[in-house]
Amino acid sequence: MMGPIPDQAVGVHEPTSPAKPVSSTKSPSFSPETSSSDLLSTNSNAEVPPCLLSPAFTPPSTPGTSTPRTSTQAGVLSTHDQDLNIQSSLLETLPEVECQVRARIPMNNGRQFFLYLYRNNIDNKEHLAIVFGDTIRSKSLDAPRQHETEMDRMTRGAYTGRLFPGRTASGPEPSSQSSTQQAATPIPLVRIHSECYTGETAWSARCDCGEQLDEAARLMSAEGNGVVVYLRQEGRGIGLAEKLKAYNLQDLGNDTVTANLLLRHPADARSYGLATSILLDLGLSTIRLLTNNPVKVAAVEGPNKEILVKERVPMVPLAWKGIKGGITGTEINDYLNTKINRMGHMIPVPQQQQESHEQHSGI
Ligand SMILES: [Zn+2]
Repeated sequence: MMGPIPDQAVGVHEPTSPAKPVSSTKSPSFSPETSSSDLLSTNSNAEVPPCLLSPAFTPPSTPGTSTPRTSTQAGVLSTHDQDLNIQSSLLETLPEVECQVRARIPMNNGRQFFLYLYRNNIDNKEHLAIVFGDTIRSKSLDAPRQHETEMDRMTRGAYTGRLFPGRTASGPEPSSQSSTQQAATPIPLVRIHSECYTGETAWSARCDCGEQLDEAARLMSAEGNGVVVYLRQEGRGIGLAEKLKAYNLQDLGNDTVTANLLLRHPADARSYGLATSILLDLGLSTIRLLTNNPVKVAAVEGPNKEILVKERVPMVPLAWKGIKGGITGTEINDYLNTKINRMGHMIPVPQQQQESHEQHSGI
């Protein structure tokens, strides 16, 4: 299914990512004998395109090398910028992924999900799938591995039903099968979420990533069915260090897109091939996608439309819906307006918010 990754010899510096090339770019073996050190070992002959190697991809010809005096000087993204934006999100071939382990995680609200940890053949980051409901399972996790015992299978999470003290077999228990229940499962809600340390962990009100993650979990938990694919591509793919520099450039009067371009990064360096591969491994070929980002819809569907996005479900900031508890402030409003006006995100803007933005930006 997976073709070889195309060679692309482009010199690039990676300011933020510790990712190293994997030992082979062609059909790596995920046999039980393949240790993590094998996966991490470097091979100078292996040539992996930098955009696949690391989210910290810095194209040599990224525009935006001068500093505007005001945030309104930057204007809108040129066609070239937008092409670059879309190209960085599309991979010619899908990466190979394997679920290494999964575990049950109880939540504060009394519900629970399963956390699936993935490894892949293009970077050494631990990408995750947060899976709600019992019907979604990983093919690569469930596949039998050589020489493994029942205890091995239960330890890596390849069991059905629930673990309990004294359980000795990983297979289905007599009372746990319900085919009628599976037939009634609706098309799952899916969110492709990129890691954001500042917004999810460090209480930042510059973006709404933490709120979006919470809202996705709330919706999926309520439906009892859904997946958040959590990709380790911080700062729209440029890494935390570069993101912090971009924040300083924003405080100097640039918006989030211009700040990235000034740092010679694409406005959006993320790619979604890993998400497509993870969803396919989870047996999901038709999904409802929670996003405001039109590029993401096309990118997640994969180079050969491996996945069908049946419906796009918008994510409206809580504050814009008049719900208390959401992220508020000048920074987040500027950030969201930049996403709408310069990155084509589709978020309905409330009238009051629109007027205050126009006043603020002198439109
Ligand atoms: Zn964020």
